[in-house]
Parts: sequence; structure tokens; C-alpha cells
Amino acid sequence: MSGDVERPGYFEIEVGKVTMGQLIYEMAGGVKWGRRLKAVIPGGSSAKVLRADERFKLKQKQPDGSTIDVEMSIYDLPMDFDSLAAAGSMAGSGGVIVLDDSRDMVWVLNNINEFYAHESCGQCTPCREGSLWMKKITERMLNGGGVTEDPRTCAFGEACAWPTQSFVEKFPEEFAARARKSIPPPLPPEDTPRELIEREQIPTSPLAHDPGWEKAGADAVI
Ligand code: SF4
Repeated sequence: MSGDVERPGYFEIEVGKVTMGQLIYEMAGGVKWGRRLKAVIPGGSSAKVLRADERFKLKQKQPDGSTIDVEMSIYDLPMDFDSLAAAGSMAGSGGVIVLDDSRDMVWVLNNINEFYAHESCGQCTPCREGSLWMKKITERMLNGGGVTEDPRTCAFGEACAWPTQSFVEKFPEEFAARARKSIPPPLPPEDTPRELIEREQIPTSPLAHDPGWEKAGADAVI
């Protein structure tokens, strides 16, 4: 459990025995003081984001073995694989990321895209090229150069595209606000692998909190 909660950390729970609300508010201490829950990424950063004000339709098993359709809030979602899949996301790695109402979703998505662009090993073309392009497009939006096509343009690759698809779908107002310029959209300049090697790092927006590992890696003595 990480993100905007009072007590982030590792929690070991039996699958399906707690709800999202219990996990956030009872085990992780709730969202930060004075803040409201805005969204949750329930299964690692590639899992599709869920809005806090969404309603989810799930099938619930009855004691007699039958199933009924039940509508529930994010707080009542059982933390199990089937329920999170039915809610349109996944339990994935079990890494729950909580976002409160102070978060700019374009910034959050750009932060995720920056991670995938950096971590792609480069073996598969859709991942190698797509992750970099998604990062370039969200970074352009973040820096005020977003064009009207941007929210619809960036989605290829496989799992690394799920955050982009879901963020744009669930928070269209925030992405539209960053993409007001009219067409034609100047697509981001492509970096060749040689240019990336020569510059040693992909140009990025500053992270909110410098994790320190970029510098540590660059200075490491082998
Ligand atoms: S999807 Fe392909 S390019 Fe991306 S990290 Fe995995 S192996 Fe590497």
C-alpha cells in the first residue's frame, strides 16, 4: 500500500477477506488529513485506475449457490482477483496506490509513463517505442504544449498502455484541460537509440520526490 495514506506499508491479508475501504481506512490509516480519496490503482502501476466516485456492478454469490447483481462503491469492493477484474482493473501484483484529491492526474500518468519508458528493456518494439511515446505525449501535456489529439493519441504497447487508456478514460476533464491547442499536432521528436545513449538519460520532468537511484547508478564504481 503506497501513495496518499497515513500508514503506507506491507499488509498481508487473506484474499477477499477485506474490502478496499477497510484496507485504506482501517489498515493504512486512511487518506491524509483533510484530503478526500480521488482514485486507486489497485494492482501495481500497470493496473487500470479506479475513480473514487465510480459505482461498480459485480455478481455476488448467495448462500443457495445462485448469483445476484450488486452495485457497490469503491469502498465496498472486495480485495480479490475476480472482484477487481469485474470492476475493470486487476489485483495484479497487489501493489495498491492511493491518490487523494491533491493529485494532478496528468502528472500522475506522466510519472507512470516515465517509469515504463525508463524500465523498458528494449527487446519488443511496441514496448520500447510505445512507452517512450506515451511519456513524450503526457510530458508535452504537462509542460503546457498539449494538443487536442493528445488524449486519443497515445496507446500502444501492452500492459504499459493500460494506465494511459484508463487515466484518459476516467479523468477526461483533466486531460482535455491540458490539450487545448488546435491541430495539426506536432508529434514529439523521436530520439534515436544513439541519441539516448549519448545523452545518457531520457529527458524527463522532475519527479515529485527524487528517489536518488538515478544518481547512485551513474556514480556507481564497478
Ligand atoms: S515487454 Fe518486451 S521490451 Fe518491454 S520490458 Fe518486456 S521484454 Fe522488454
